[in-house]
Amino acid sequence: MPERNILIDRYGRKHDYLRISLTGGCNLNCSYCRPPGGTDLPGETGRQGLGDDELIRLVRLFAGMGVRKVRLTGGEPLLRRGIEKLIERIAGIAGIRTVALTTNGTLLDGRLPGLVAAGISRLNVSLDSLDAGRFREITGADFFPSVWRGIETALAEPALELKLNTVVVRGINDHELADFVALTEDNEFTVRFIEYMPFGDNHWQPDRLVGWREIARRIGEIFPLRQQGRQGVTRLYSVEGFSGRVGFIAPLTGCFCAGCSRLRLTADGRLRLCLHDRNELDLGAMIRSAAPDAHLSGAVLAALAGKVQGHGRSAGSRADGPGVTCMSSIGG
Ligand code: SAM
Repeated sequence: MPERNILIDRYGRKHDYLRISLTGGCNLNCSYCRPPGGTDLPGETGRQGLGDDELIRLVRLFAGMGVRKVRLTGGEPLLRRGIEKLIERIAGIAGIRTVALTTNGTLLDGRLPGLVAAGISRLNVSLDSLDAGRFREITGADFFPSVWRGIETALAEPALELKLNTVVVRGINDHELADFVALTEDNEFTVRFIEYMPFGDNHWQPDRLVGWREIARRIGEIFPLRQQGRQGVTRLYSVEGFSGRVGFIAPLTGCFCAGCSRLRLTADGRLRLCLHDRNELDLGAMIRSAAPDAHLSGAVLAALAGKVQGHGRSAGSRADGPGVTCMSSIGG
């Protein structure tokens, strides 16, 4: 596979990272992610999800254009039937070096060895509270014990790079920052705090946002943080003497659009060039109308040429206006 990457936009950004939503469905209803009624999921709009062969065809096409890393997300990706086989097929595509998974962790326990054997080398588990009652309030479900078991199993997998992702919402879970950081004392994973972003009708309010500098300052009052540099979109830190790391992802107060390398594919095959831009290319429809690969790749390059320079969202922007209507349809 040639190293050539032709997925370069007019701002010189090279796109080698494809995030694929495997299903719009989820077994949690996190208030900030999937509010009732705020959904545009396949199945709920009559749109047809991509089948495994269609998906594999698209990954092959993107790998041929320069994609090297694929992240499987959702909805909840572990709800997709036969995901292990799909992972194995994606991992076997020439050019693909990393297959990663983002999950809410509820279905991990018992599945992890199969997922790792199939080719998952990086795992992100979303967890917004370490308190079972608070977890239920945020997600609408009583799954904290299963998620925790899943995390423990993942920690025991030496081949797996594990990260916990926590969306910080003021008044909901920001009192738990230090508890999350304390987990990094003995566990060799990264706990990443993500700024709460506005989407459609997800109840976002400016005063609910806790910017990454405030998060870091509040943690720093308890644990001295040492800067470790950047890892992709993450500002990485660690606490002296602790085994793990602490990261901050700041899409609103520390915009990282200039280094964006991401493309996103919805479960029904719509390509999104930017999380917050509703413009999309319906590759699923093109496949169903028997478009040859050359048409698909030509359409991808034409769409990429129009990719916006930045999402234009900031700490003061409002929840309405353009943008995805529901995070669980696009996968974060
Ligand atoms: N079900 C999987 C999970 O829970 O990780 C994958 C899909 S979920 C949409 C992917 C990520 O998006 C999760 O880490 C979630 O917390 C994050 N997310 C959802 N809504 C968000 C928002 N409004 N702001 C910031 N992150 C959000």
